[in-house]
Amino acid sequence: MYKTFADVKAALDKGRSVEDILKKYFNNIKERKDLNAFLEVFEESAQDKAREVDEKIKQGTAGKLAGMVIGIKDNICYKDHKVSASSKILEGFESIYSATVVERLLEEDAVIIGRLNSDEFAMGSSNENSAFGPVRNALNEDFVPGGSSGGSASAVAANLCTVALGSDTGGSIRQPASFTGTLGFKPTYGRVSRHGLIAYASSFDQIGPIANDIQDVAVVMEVIAGGDEFDSTASQREVPSLSPKPLKSKLRIAYLKETLDSDGIDPEIKARTEQLVNCLRADGHELIPVSFDYLDYLVPTYYVLSTAEASSNLARFDGVHYGYRSDEAQGVEETYIKSRTEGFGKEVKRRIMAGTFVLSQGYYDAYYTKAQKVRRKIQNRTNEILAQNDVILLPTTPTTAFELDAVTDPISMYLQDIFTVQANLSGNPAISLPLGQHSNGMPYGLQLIGKQFDEESLIDASAFLMDFC
Ligand code: GLN
Repeated sequence: MYKTFADVKAALDKGRSVEDILKKYFNNIKERKDLNAFLEVFEESAQDKAREVDEKIKQGTAGKLAGMVIGIKDNICYKDHKVSASSKILEGFESIYSATVVERLLEEDAVIIGRLNSDEFAMGSSNENSAFGPVRNALNEDFVPGGSSGGSASAVAANLCTVALGSDTGGSIRQPASFTGTLGFKPTYGRVSRHGLIAYASSFDQIGPIANDIQDVAVVMEVIAGGDEFDSTASQREVPSLSPKPLKSKLRIAYLKETLDSDGIDPEIKARTEQLVNCLRADGHELIPVSFDYLDYLVPTYYVLSTAEASSNLARFDGVHYGYRSDEAQGVEETYIKSRTEGFGKEVKRRIMAGTFVLSQGYYDAYYTKAQKVRRKIQNRTNEILAQNDVILLPTTPTTAFELDAVTDPISMYLQDIFTVQANLSGNPAISLPLGQHSNGMPYGLQLIGKQFDEESLIDASAFLMDFC
């Protein structure tokens, strides 16, 4: 089993080839087919790349990810490979270019092993909204892996790849990480190029890694982060070395009282988080309880703005430009209507309608403009807290993973995102680390939110906490 990149490198040092290592991952994928984590394994291109990397290792010219085997969420484009956003509407569609993140991973000699199932267009919190069936949690197949990057998280938890890329618009990297006992990292908005990521809500979307080790999070972030001429929102700021370093001084950590006192939080998660707060205090760190008055506004604000952006972004899927076209349609208008009606799933349609509504004349100011103002308040308060503290600590999720089909009401599903959407609304980097195991047998995560563009300190604090908790 290769759980981490360190395991892979140890095997390479002993003389194993990347091709061999890749084979082992192929076998694992076959054995865990029932997880439904992979929509497609890129056998040929992965094998070709593995051979190329083996050659480069012999010559001493291999890049820094040589031997790392990476799965990509099915909303990240890879030239000449299919990509569908787990939707029927992109059936048969092949990308003609690679996402910037994919280019950068390949340049450093990672092997891209395949594309991973997710919620359709990254909309969901359980990975039950895929047109290609739900993903199962690698730790217990009766349970969901979380969403929307559920395939990415389950694949990493089951060692079907060394690291996976996910995307996080409202928690889709961190919540599945929490549900599967893995680490999930959402970069600062603008840290990683979105070029080649199928857009859901463009002012929120970020690509990031899910891994079993903080070192792997760090090295992948180092490779994928940084400015990009193809994405004007990707910051040109320099990317420092992110390799975790020991803390130089004790931490000053803010924790949000309202999150621990909120109604829906599982008592064991609350108790364990409080215990951690106390242990950190006893270890000499400053733990500051702060109030965050906007907790109840986070989910509504997120869903007004993200559906608005989605309704606009998804307008391009019209039965003409890409993928699926209804057989029965005649004429342009009918082609649009029938292709979209047949091609999109229920949740995606619900969001397009909600987004169209909040943007409509007469309601725009009441919903969209208002939500933008609330977003600004949330951003200001988050940055105010971080001006005085190194990081914010809070649970990643109010509960552990639930059973498949257990949450059917959309509002209850949206409330799953209560602790994760803050960092997307504010744009700050955030990570979920495995914190504990519930008496129901499932894991749950601890979340840290860092200062804007300070991935470095966030990773250092995370490495410290990984050893501490
Ligand atoms: N669960 C959230 C949603 O459905 C987050 C999704 C995401 O981060 N892509 O919108």
